[in-house]
Amino acid sequence: MVKVPFGQGDTPRNGYVVSVSDEAPIEADKIKEILSVVSVQAMGEGIGIALAGWMCSRYGSTMLSALKIVFPDLGKRKPAVRKEIELAVDREEAEGLLQEFARRHNTARARLLSALLELERQPRSLITGKLGISSTVIKSLSEQGVIRIVDSEELRDPVRVDGEEYSAFYGLGARLSDEQEEAVRQVTEDAVNRRHSVSLLFGITGSGKTEVYISAIREVVRAGRQAIVLIPEISLTYQTLLRFYRHFGNRVSVIHSMLSPAERADQFERARRGEIDVMIGPRSALFTPFKDPGIIVIDEEHENSYKNEAMPRYHARETAAELARLHDAALLLGSATPSVETYDRCMKGEYRLFRLTRRLTGQDLPDVHVIDLRRELKEGNRSVFSRDLARAIQDRLDRGEQCMLFLNRRGYLGAMTCRSCGTVFKCPHCDVSLVLHRDGRLHCHYCGYSAPSPKTCPECGSPYIAGFKAGTEQVEKAVKEMFPAARTLRMDGDTTRKKDSYDRILQSFSQHEADILVGTQMIVKGHDFPGVTLVGILLADLSLYASDFRASERTFQLLTQAAGRAGRRQMPGEVFIQTYKPDHYAIRYASGQDYESFYEEEMKYRSLMGYPPSSHLMGIQIQASSEDDGEALAGEIFMAVTAAADPEDNILGPSKAAIGRMRDLYRYVVYIKSRDYDRLEKYREISEEVFKAGGPAAGELYLQFDLDPVQGF
Ligand code: ADP
Ligand code: ZN
Ligand code: ZN
Repeated sequence: MVKVPFGQGDTPRNGYVVSVSDEAPIEADKIKEILSVVSVQAMGEGIGIALAGWMCSRYGSTMLSALKIVFPDLGKRKPAVRKEIELAVDREEAEGLLQEFARRHNTARARLLSALLELERQPRSLITGKLGISSTVIKSLSEQGVIRIVDSEELRDPVRVDGEEYSAFYGLGARLSDEQEEAVRQVTEDAVNRRHSVSLLFGITGSGKTEVYISAIREVVRAGRQAIVLIPEISLTYQTLLRFYRHFGNRVSVIHSMLSPAERADQFERARRGEIDVMIGPRSALFTPFKDPGIIVIDEEHENSYKNEAMPRYHARETAAELARLHDAALLLGSATPSVETYDRCMKGEYRLFRLTRRLTGQDLPDVHVIDLRRELKEGNRSVFSRDLARAIQDRLDRGEQCMLFLNRRGYLGAMTCRSCGTVFKCPHCDVSLVLHRDGRLHCHYCGYSAPSPKTCPECGSPYIAGFKAGTEQVEKAVKEMFPAARTLRMDGDTTRKKDSYDRILQSFSQHEADILVGTQMIVKGHDFPGVTLVGILLADLSLYASDFRASERTFQLLTQAAGRAGRRQMPGEVFIQTYKPDHYAIRYASGQDYESFYEEEMKYRSLMGYPPSSHLMGIQIQASSEDDGEALAGEIFMAVTAAADPEDNILGPSKAAIGRMRDLYRYVVYIKSRDYDRLEKYREISEEVFKAGGPAAGELYLQFDLDPVQGF
C-alpha cells in the first residue's frame, strides 16, 4: 500500500501497487511520484494480489474491495504486553479450593480454577474471552494469592506445554486409527510435496476429525510450511483452542471477534514475521499473511458463516481452494454433514473423500423418534409439546438429567402451511416456499410469482391454514407452565446480545445449573454437554419452509447436528423430532443419520430445478432509496439480460427481495440460472452497463451480485 498524490489538488490517498511495468500507458510528464510506502505485504510473490483478482472476477466486486479483504488494513500496531494468568498455589491446594468454590456455587471461580488445573498458565484474553471470567473475579483471586497475573513482553509460549502432552496422548495406548492414518498420510504427502489437492474428511462428531487435522498440521509444519485452520466462530470453543495450544504451544495463534483490532494486527504481524506456524479463526483467518502455507483446514465446511454477506460476497471454501491452488497447498475440509456442493465434487472425483466411520468416544448414536404433529392436532393436543415428548421431559427431570429444546428458526420468514395435512404452499415455478406479505398475498422471492393466500387447504380442504408464530420465548413460557419445578435457560439472539453471555449460558448449563435449555440453532453447534440425554426439536418444519433452495439441506444438517447432542458420554440419548411432514426426505434421512440417501434425493431436486451444484445461480440485487428507481432499474436489467441470454439459461424476476426494504433502501432482485460460468460473467457485465448508463439517479442506487447464494438476497 502506498500513499500517492491524487487528483488536481494532489490530495494524499492510499492505493495498492498491483504490478510493476517499464512502460507507462500515459505521458511521462503526467506521472507523479509516490509519496511514501504505507505497508509492505508478505503474502508470497504476488499471490495475495492474484487472489484478489480472482475474487473480483469470480464474485463481481471491485478490485479495491477485494484487495481490502485480502490485505485488511488493521491500523497501527502498538507493541503489546501480553498478560497471562497462572496458578499461585500448588495443585493440591488448588483442588481443595475448587471443591470449596463449587460447593458455594462460585461458578466463575470454579471455572477458572479447573481451567488452570488443566494448564497452569494461560493468556488472560483466553480466560476473559472464551471462558467468560470477569476482571473482578481475576482481581479478587489474585489479591487472595490464588492466582498471579504475569506480564510477558516477548510473545512466548502461552501455555508452556508442547511435545510432551502430545506424546501423552499416544502414551496412553491411543493411536490414530487406520482410517485417520490414511487421511493424514495422503494429505501431508500432498502438502509436503507441493501438490495441490482438496479432500473431504467425512465423519460424525467424535469420529476423530480434529485429531486428523492436528496430526496432518504437525507433519506439514515439520516440513517448514504453515497452516490455516478455519472454524466457525460459534464452534470455536475453549476446549478446541486448548487442544491446538497443547500441540503447537506458542507457535499457534487465534483470531476471533473478542480480540481488539490491535490484538488482531499483532497476530497477523506474528504470522508475517514467521513467529507462528498455525493460525486458527473464522473466515477472515484465511488471509493470514503466511509466507508459505502448506495446508488449509476448514472444519464444519458446510457452515453458512463461511459465506461473506457483504461485497465481495466470497465463499471461504472456494476462496481457500483458490488460495491453496496458488500456493500448491492441500485443502482439507471436514464435516459430519458435508455441503451438497462438496460431496458432489467428491462423487465426481474432483475432491478426495476420506470417511471416518466410528465414534471413538465409544457410545452409540441416540434413538430418534419422529412425532407426527398432524396426529396430535387430530387428537386435540394443541400445545407445543407432543404427549410423547412431554412424557420424556418429565422422565428426565425425575432422573435429574438434562434436556435441550430446539427451535430452528433460521431462514424462516413466514411460510403458510396446512396444519392438518402438512402441505406448504410453494411457487409453481421455483419449488420453494411462498412467503406471506403484508398485502395478504403469497410471494416467491426468486421469480416474483404471487397468488392470493388460500382460505382452505387445496389438498385436504382443512381450514387450519397458518404461519408458524412460536418463538423461543413462548417455548420457555410453555415449559414453565408444564414443568414448574424445572430450572430453564434460554439462548437466542436476544439473550446473547451482550458480550460473553453466550459462553456464560453454555457454561452454566454444562455445570448443570439448569435442567432445560431452550434455544435457536446456536445451541446445537459443537458443544458437549455430558448431562444431556434428551433433545427435542419442536418444529423441524421451520427450516424446511425457508424460502430458498437450500431449505432441505439446512434442515438435514440442523437435525443431524441436534441429534448428535444427545447422550454424548456414558448415558444413552433420545431425540424427538416433531413435524407436520414426517415423510419428508430431509426428516426421514436425518432421523436415520443417512447422509448418502439424503444427498441422492437432494441432487434429484437440484438438477430438476437447475439449482447449484447442478447449475449456477447468480443473484443480482438492486438497492435504491426510491422505490420507482429500484423497480425500473431491475426491470431494465432483466430486459437487457433476457435479450442477450442463451436459450439454455433461465432469467427469473424481477422481484422484490426477501427483505424488501432495509436501512431505507428498497431491494429488487433478478436471478439467473446457468451451467456456464462465462455466460454469467457476460450477464454481469451487461447489468453493470445498464446500471452505469442509467445516469444519475435521484437518490442512492446500488448494484450487487451474489454467486450461488447461501442466504439469498
Ligand atoms: P471430531 O473432531 O470428529 O469431533 P475428535 O478429534 O474431537 O473428533 O475426537 C473425539 C474424541 O476421540 C476426542 O476425545 C479424541 O481425543 C478422541 N480420539 C481421537 N482419535 C483417537 C484415537 N485414534 N484413539 C483414541 N481416541 C481418539
Ligand atoms: Zn391440508
Ligand atoms: Zn418462483
